[in-house]
Amino acid sequence: MKDCLFCKMVTGELKPDIVHEDEHVLAFRDISPQTPTHVLIIPRKHIASSNTLEAGHAGVLSAMFQAARHIAEIEGISDTGYRLVFNCNEDAGQTVFHIHMHLMGGRRMAWPPG
Ligand code: 5GP
Ligand code: ZN
Repeated sequence: MKDCLFCKMVTGELKPDIVHEDEHVLAFRDISPQTPTHVLIIPRKHIASSNTLEAGHAGVLSAMFQAARHIAEIEGISDTGYRLVFNCNEDAGQTVFHIHMHLMGGRRMAWPPG
């Protein structure tokens, strides 16, 4: 997708602070971190949101969760805990329409979210 911010990170046109990459996903630090660890995990393939997920995306989704587990270990938050979030559309506050998992941790978080 030509005008997608996160596709530009996949192609290398933009250079985020990458913490992990593999065949299916790219993971980089959020530019405006809300927790000590705040990493965005995105598929290399453009998928707009959870509203456009299909059965064929199972492998990519699995890779996103595997990456989250791996990064949480590297960041030292596996035991203390972390939150995995997908925002979808306006009410949830989605601002970038290339699906992404927020991996957040390193401090105590409230529930329910605001
Ligand atoms: P959303 O609100 O769509 O779930 O999350 C989008 C996230 O992307 C936000 O947390 C925002 O801070 C982050 N973000 C927006 N633009 C950039 C950017 O250029 N670089 C990085 N690393 N993160 C970004
Ligand atoms: Zn995209």
